[in-house]
Amino acid sequence: MTSIHSLFINGQWVAPVKGGSFATVDPASETEIARVAAATEEDVNLAVAAARRAFDDGEWPQLSGKARAVYLRRIAALIRDKQQRLAELEVRDNGKPLPEALWDIGDTAYCFDFYAGLAEKLDDQQEQAVALSDDRFSSVARKEPVGVCGAIIPWNFPMLMAAWKVAPALAAGCTVVLKPSEVTPLTALQLAEIAQEAELPPGVLNIITGLGAEAGSPLTAHPDVDKLAFTGSVPTGRKIMQAAAADIKNVSLELGGKSAFIVFDDSDIEKAVEWILFGIFWNKGEVCSATSRVLVQRNLYDALLARLAEEAERITPGNGMEAGVLLGPLVNAAQYEKVKQAIARGAEQGATLLSGGKRPPGLEKGYFLQPTIFTEMSEESDLWREEIFGPVVCVRPFEDEAEAVASANRSRFGLAAAVMSADLARAERVARKLRAGIVWVNCSQPTFTEAPWGGYKQSGIGRELGEWGLNNYLETKQITRYDSDEPWGWYLN
Ligand code: NAD
Repeated sequence: MTSIHSLFINGQWVAPVKGGSFATVDPASETEIARVAAATEEDVNLAVAAARRAFDDGEWPQLSGKARAVYLRRIAALIRDKQQRLAELEVRDNGKPLPEALWDIGDTAYCFDFYAGLAEKLDDQQEQAVALSDDRFSSVARKEPVGVCGAIIPWNFPMLMAAWKVAPALAAGCTVVLKPSEVTPLTALQLAEIAQEAELPPGVLNIITGLGAEAGSPLTAHPDVDKLAFTGSVPTGRKIMQAAAADIKNVSLELGGKSAFIVFDDSDIEKAVEWILFGIFWNKGEVCSATSRVLVQRNLYDALLARLAEEAERITPGNGMEAGVLLGPLVNAAQYEKVKQAIARGAEQGATLLSGGKRPPGLEKGYFLQPTIFTEMSEESDLWREEIFGPVVCVRPFEDEAEAVASANRSRFGLAAAVMSADLARAERVARKLRAGIVWVNCSQPTFTEAPWGGYKQSGIGRELGEWGLNNYLETKQITRYDSDEPWGWYLN
């Protein structure tokens, strides 16, 4: 067990003002792996002050994009150098299998490199001439950083979620106070060390560990924070939006989902099974975009369910550090209870448990759950409507395209959706009708740093990743000049 009793503020490791700490636990063994500093409002004030100074008085926002990119590329290289160690830490803190963690850390490094590339291009996009209808004037549009950003992230992809916010914010010239989830704080602290190693100027990136109510909430309410960038649940997202409303902070929200996967009966059954499994059991189903509602066309329904159950039962849960394991434990005791309760309620509400639903035999400790498949639930059931955020998939049959699209869209969420068909024209037509920010055709989940990410409806506001992610952290300014020698002639004639 280690003790990391410090917060990263103004380029320095400092103890929290009130001296508090909390434990982080390995979900495979249920043992404490570290105690971490618990920031409170006093620490938030220090972190925001550091970020404010770095923005208002420091050179960071004034540097060229090319100069900022040098730091981002250094951070990317350092992450790559430490990929194995960071991935192992992620496995211990979150429970995900090592191959997935290695993939996450690789993506994290790539995200910093990608935004370095966009920062370099930003210089050439400045001073864009705006054609005006009055030739006595000329105008240019500039992109400028929003200011100090408060970034709050969840526990399902700890280091990657940090990168999705920190990399574009730094590329844009913002300064950041990042609060990782209290459930998985360890790799964010490594990011602080990496920032130090990369010689990022003090105050540009501040990382404070702490609980949502004690550290997250004061960050959202702080008047010197210009922008809030949040990924997490809908209830917390609502609180963040309310806090932002108090002084009209710029806000972007990436929230929950209950994404549908429509499988037409001309699909190859083996490909459908593989992508359905990947859509819900990858990262233990703790994925905001998990395709947890599967709609299968009637002719394929029975055969597909049989193959799906067969393959799901072959996925063996285990410690993410063990070779061959592709399903780790749920992240913590609270999430384990929440998912088990959803399973129990599903059965009570009349759904049929086709497969799984229990602690796997032979794993007495750890928050392990078998891959779980439910059928025969009503569209009104909690199972079908509510985000479970675990390895639980619900399958329903459908007759025709119109019914499938209507059912997929009957949700308060709209993060992602998937459609599978051998008929690409039909898949395209359905993709356009789905009310979701991300639609996968003939696959589910592959996520690219270059493409926009975010949800419709209660799944969020704004887009991360790609150039859209950079725009999240930029303001647009017009500078308009009166070029004529003629007097304006309104008051003085
Ligand atoms: P959560 O909302 O409980 O917590 C997220 C973060 O908010 C944590 O850092 C937490 O400490 C902080 N927080 C909690 N209360 C707060 C408050 N009052 N003020 C400020 N901050 C506060 O979510 P979670 O359980 O960590 O993550 C799971 C949720 O995240 C799921 O709903 C999932 O769908 C969503 N998610 C969405 C995306 C996406 O891109 N849309 C990605 C990953 C996760």
